Amino acid sequence: MYLGKRCKYAEECTVYQDENNEVKKPVFLIRNVFCNRGLKGWKNCKRYMAYERGEKVDDTMTPYG
Ligand code: SF4
Repeated sequence: MYLGKRCKYAEECTVYQDENNEVKKPVFLIRNVFCNRGLKGWKNCKRYMAYERGEKVDDTMTPYG
């Protein structure tokens, strides 16, 4: 089970690192909804899905589009 696990891309992710200016919500909220929630959260994240597909993930891409 992946439940409760942190996203494996957290170290390189501009959103998790709070370096993405396109994200207007507080980073703790984003982390709770997407990053630290296990697969349930990750699969709703556009960035995660792009990483998983091996696509280029722009620094400005947000979890929701
Ligand atoms: S879930 Fe999405 S926003 Fe969170 S660290 Fe992973 S790729 Fe980044």
